[in-house]
Amino acid sequence: MTNLTDEKVARPRGAAAARTDWRWQLRRAWRSLDALRAERFPQMEITDGMREAERRFPMAVTPHYASLVRRPDFSDPIFAQCVPSPGELVSAPWASRDPLGEEPALVAPRLIRRYPDRAVLLADSICACYCRHCFRKRLSGSPDAAVSPDELAAATRWLRDNPEVSDVLVSGGDVLCLPDGRVREILDALAAVPSVRVVRVCTRLLATLPQRFTAALVRILAAPARSRSGGGGAAATTAVYVMAHFNHARELSPETLEAVRRLVDAGIPVCSQTVLLRGVNDDADSLEGLFRALYHARVRPYYLFQADLAPGTEHLRTPLATGPALMRELRARLSGPALPNFCLDPPGGGGKIELAPDSVVERRAGATLLRNGRGEEFLYPDPVEARDG
Ligand SMILES: *Cc1c(COP(=O)(O)O)cnc(C)c1O
Repeated sequence: MTNLTDEKVARPRGAAAARTDWRWQLRRAWRSLDALRAERFPQMEITDGMREAERRFPMAVTPHYASLVRRPDFSDPIFAQCVPSPGELVSAPWASRDPLGEEPALVAPRLIRRYPDRAVLLADSICACYCRHCFRKRLSGSPDAAVSPDELAAATRWLRDNPEVSDVLVSGGDVLCLPDGRVREILDALAAVPSVRVVRVCTRLLATLPQRFTAALVRILAAPARSRSGGGGAAATTAVYVMAHFNHARELSPETLEAVRRLVDAGIPVCSQTVLLRGVNDDADSLEGLFRALYHARVRPYYLFQADLAPGTEHLRTPLATGPALMRELRARLSGPALPNFCLDPPGGGGKIELAPDSVVERRAGATLLRNGRGEEFLYPDPVEARDG
C-alpha cells in the first residue's frame, strides 16, 4: 500500500533508531518478571507473591513505559501500574471478571450497547502494556485477538439496522495495537454506516507506546473513508476522537507530547480518562499535576473513574468518598476545562454514575449553606416566591 511506503522510508536506521519503531517496542515488551529484571531492572526484588500474581494475570511492559520508571518498586506510580504485585492476590467477594456486566449487554459480535445512542466495539484483546488495574482482564492476553472480517460485517450490519446509535467507541484491548491496514479497515467500516457520526478510538498507547502515532496512522485517524460505501453524501463526515488513558503526569513524556501534538494538529480532539488508583494518583497534588499538564498539551481531562471491581485490583481501589473529596480540592486549584467528572460504573452494569463533590452543607428554611473547594461556607437564599411555597 502506498501510504505504508513513506513510513518505511522515513523510519530511522540502526539500533538506537529501532526504539522509535512501534513494532520494535511491541516485540521487545517484557512479558515476565525474570526478563524485566534481567534486561531492565537488575536491582528489582521479585517476591513469591509477585510470581503468583504473574501466573494469574498477563504481564507486558514496553521499553518506553519502563523508561518512565524511576525506582523499580511499588512506590513508583509507573512501576505500580505495570508490574504484577502481591496485592493482586487479595480476593474480594465482589470481584467479577466482567464487573460492568458487558457480556449480557452484547447486541452483536463484540458490540456492547448500554445507552440508546452509543455502542462499544471490542476490536481486539491486545494491549502493549497490561495495566494492573484493568477492568477487562477477561479479555487481556486471550488468543482470539482481533475482530474478524465476518464479525466486523455483523457489527456494522447491526449498526445499519439500529441508526439511533450514532456514537461508536472502539475499545478492546487496544485497536491501535493492530497494523495500520486493520485500523483503517475498522474505521472505514464504521464510518461507512451513514448513521454513525462519531467514532471514539479508546487507547492507552499514548502513554505506553507513543511511537505508534506515526504520520501514517494520524492520517488514517483523521480521515476515515465515509463515502466509500455510499451513504452520507459528500458533506457528511465522521468525527474521530481519541480517548486516551493517563493516570500520572510522568506518563506525559516528550514522545507522548509529540504524539498528542500530531493528533491535535491534524484536527483530532484528544480527551483523557483517568482511573483513581491508591498509591499512584490518589492525592490532590498528583491529580493536579496530571490534569494541568494534559490541559496545557491540549488534551481535555474527561473522566476520573473509581476503579472497577475487577479481580486482582483490590489493593489499588480507594474508598468511594476519596474521589469527590479530591475533586472538591481540585476545583479550587484548576481551570474549569482542566477538571474531569468523577464517575463510577456500578457493578453489573447500568451505565456511569457521576459523583460530584457534595457542596451542600445544610438545607435550611429559605436558604442553603454551601461550601467551596477551599472549605469556605456561603449562605445562598431561595427566591422569595419559593419561600412562600
Ligand atoms: C463509558 C461507556 C460509553 C460512553 O459513555 P460516555 O459517558 O458517553 O463517555 C458507552 N457505552 C458503554 C458500554 C460504556 O461503558
